[in-house]
Amino acid sequence: MNVGPESTRLVCPNCQMEVMTKATAITTTKTHLIAILMCLFCCWICAPVVYCTDCARSIEHTCPSCNNYIGTYDR
Ligand SMILES: [Zn+2]
Repeated sequence: MNVGPESTRLVCPNCQMEVMTKATAITTTKTHLIAILMCLFCCWICAPVVYCTDCARSIEHTCPSCNNYIGTYDR
């Protein structure tokens, strides 16, 4: 399922309802990798920032009606 960074209007494949997806920022392996890389490149002070900013996170979309997982948007 193709989803964007924002809440998307689509028909849920599970409950067949037209819903606005629930977008949740999740921390992924990529987030940890970026943090580790920042540590290596002397930006260790900035590393915790990675966990606070949305730019390093993926957005997981779920159905607000049935809580079905719809898809993940990877930045
Ligand atoms: Zn649903």
